[in-house]
Amino acid sequence: MLPVNEAERIILDLVQVLDAEKNSEIVNLENAQGRILAKTVKGKLDFPHWDNSAMDGYAVSYADVKDCSEASPITLKVVTEIAAGDRPKTKIKPGQAARIFTGAMLPEGADAIVIQENTIREGDQVTILAAPHPQEFVRHQGAFYQAGTPLLEAGVNLVAPEIAVLATAQCTQLSVYRRPRVAILSTGDELVTPEQTLLPGQIVDSNQYALASFVANNGGIPVKLGIVPDQPEILKNAIAEAIESVDVVLSTGGVSVGDYDYVDRILAELGGTLHIRSVAVKPGKPLTVATFANHNCLYFGIPGNPVSALVSCWRFVQPALKKLSGNNNYQPHFVKAITRHDLKAGGKRETYLWGQLHLVDGEYEFTLAGGSHSSGNLINLAQTNGLAIIPVGQKLIAEGEEARVMLID
Ligand code: AMP
Ligand code: MG
Repeated sequence: MLPVNEAERIILDLVQVLDAEKNSEIVNLENAQGRILAKTVKGKLDFPHWDNSAMDGYAVSYADVKDCSEASPITLKVVTEIAAGDRPKTKIKPGQAARIFTGAMLPEGADAIVIQENTIREGDQVTILAAPHPQEFVRHQGAFYQAGTPLLEAGVNLVAPEIAVLATAQCTQLSVYRRPRVAILSTGDELVTPEQTLLPGQIVDSNQYALASFVANNGGIPVKLGIVPDQPEILKNAIAEAIESVDVVLSTGGVSVGDYDYVDRILAELGGTLHIRSVAVKPGKPLTVATFANHNCLYFGIPGNPVSALVSCWRFVQPALKKLSGNNNYQPHFVKAITRHDLKAGGKRETYLWGQLHLVDGEYEFTLAGGSHSSGNLINLAQTNGLAIIPVGQKLIAEGEEARVMLID
């Protein structure tokens, strides 16, 4: 049994970020949500695009007004009005000002903005009651970004702020990593689909659905291969096909030590190297991780128990999928939380207990999911957003004490 951290390190070492040259595709900005840039973006426009006003007021020449004050105001002639979106029609000559609004382009000859609160307007005259600072309230062209320099680097995850940046720079065609294809295969003679009539003794294949949701949520393309019976030849063919066609295989079931657990043997027969066979973790001890000399495919043999399957995915598969997708810096999110219940474990394996994290006065609190914490209880896994961790060697984190909790997103 490998310690959890060691298993995590081995998995991440096995994963190579997809080669950007061979594994990128072009998407429109509309479809860029959640994608990862494969190529650094360089914009063609400065930002701001041109000198503009940060306030409503008057665009003036600093030299005209630098000495004015409430005691000795200066009056200028307002020769034009510039709203956001207007192109200035005239240039400002000495003794002149332009009425200007936030975001509007600065006219030639102006180099400072006097806010309207410091002025009195009468007809086409404006009296300036306070001298601005040089360049005051002018947003200079290129002050925030210069065209041709890197705007967003490769590896950046595109969500709202990045998408805003790309929109403003009019970068609408983006090279992003392709989504990794992840096959999902449920092994077990006892399994039926949610649509099939359930005969006595059978079990519904929830893993197929849970894992497909998990994969999609982590930027992958789920390739649902369905249910495969515990028959070595059929299973071998299904696994052989899967490893040829996808980046990652997630199979559930058949990795324990039961009479019908064939997965490890089949992987070895197919030329796989088994890097991990079990991890000192609860739930989720039987975890197989394999690679193949002739296929660029990472194989996770995950326990069939639905709770174990999801915990294994959150703890071990998620970092691998993130790295594979181009996000080299992804780390699981751990937070400190005060537990509202006693958290109990056996002490031999790193134990993950599911429940809810809440922010109370800026501090996290952890509430254990109600009901049984046997790994057979799938029902109380719903609404989980945190897994409290009890380290090896520890049997109790008492109510009111601090626990380390993994955030599930
Ligand atoms: P296994 O790892 O194959 O020994 O399965 C452990 C337990 O998980 C058994 O009770 C299985 O019936 C159940 N199980 C296995 N695969 C699935 C699945 N795809 N969906 C739901 N339960 C499953
Ligand atoms: Mg089974």
